[in-house]
Amino acid sequence: KLHNTILELKGNIRVFCRVRPFLSDDGVGADTKVISFPTATETMGRGIDVTQNGQKLSFTFDKAFMPDTSQQEVFVEISQLVQSALDGYKVCIFAYGQTGSGKTYTMMGKPESPDQRGLIPRTLEQVFETRQILQAQGWKYEMQVSMLEIYNETIRDLLAPNKSISDGSRPENGKQYTIKHDVNGNTHVSDLTVMDVRSSKEVSYLLDRAAQSRSVGKTQMNEQSSRSHFVFTLRIIGFNESTDQQVQGVLNLIDLAGSERLSKSGATGDRLKETQAINKSLSSLSDVIFALAKKEEHVPYRNSKLTYLLQPCLGGDSKTLMFVNVSPDPPSVGESLCSLRFAARVN
Ligand code: ADP
Ligand code: MG
Repeated sequence: KLHNTILELKGNIRVFCRVRPFLSDDGVGADTKVISFPTATETMGRGIDVTQNGQKLSFTFDKAFMPDTSQQEVFVEISQLVQSALDGYKVCIFAYGQTGSGKTYTMMGKPESPDQRGLIPRTLEQVFETRQILQAQGWKYEMQVSMLEIYNETIRDLLAPNKSISDGSRPENGKQYTIKHDVNGNTHVSDLTVMDVRSSKEVSYLLDRAAQSRSVGKTQMNEQSSRSHFVFTLRIIGFNESTDQQVQGVLNLIDLAGSERLSKSGATGDRLKETQAINKSLSSLSDVIFALAKKEEHVPYRNSKLTYLLQPCLGGDSKTLMFVNVSPDPPSVGESLCSLRFAARVN
């Protein structure tokens, strides 16, 4: 490890809360404020207050971003983590929250509008820019990208050649996607497409491809993109011939499935199965992060595909950041409180 950049204060887990602005279709009550931000010095920039039925509940995180916080301002707060991955650390950045709370906006943003690009495109830019600087110091890098979706505890390769995704059936024709971790802490998923990339442009192209392959599922399978976890993985392998140093970093950016609870009576069949799979994997994620934060001996990684996939990148000296995305829409206040409580548990 080259430098020890970040997160020594409070273990390796951090939680940032981000409240999105009101949208024109948030509807009635958009002028009612259910969320406010404390101005007391000790919680400023970290606190968030939620008012429900006249009762105010306060939460404090490592950071709380108000609705007018720009994508660049958010990125500045994670850029140290990106540097850590270049230094050889394993990093996970999650976006958690109900559908419509701003997870995809935070992670991907609107790639077509430079100001609104999210963490993934900005991260890639930083990685490739920094690589150029480090190359002048004798470093050579290999960068590998994979993108997958976990739906109903089944992995789907978003970079698979078009043939295998066009029928929309899952699991894909005979592909197993078995997860294995080797002794060096590297993860291998059988049959998963891993692409060597040399520029952020190449990665943008792959992101487009992945988005297309997700939207195939979306029309065929019940708005799947909000019902599945999206995992973007960048593996960074660096070596310096003159100093004989080596680094292997991993950066995972994860747009989680919507955390909303479906009314128990309303959900049947596929929808019920979906919901159960999401609940199971989100609660497993919470259990894992909670166990790590409490430094418990047993960490239940194996309870879901997501936590098992990310096992080497959660815990140890890896670094984890959770965004909890919140909608300011008054009808969402119940879901917002659930998300904040979830995040407060792991914080
Ligand atoms: P999710 O992925 O959690 O379902 P989205 O990221 O799709 O939610 O956000 C829902 C809507 O809100 C989208 O139209 C998105 O562009 C918009 N949005 C979310 N966060 C912001 C933000 N911080 N600033 C402006 N618009 C936002
Ligand atoms: Mg989304």
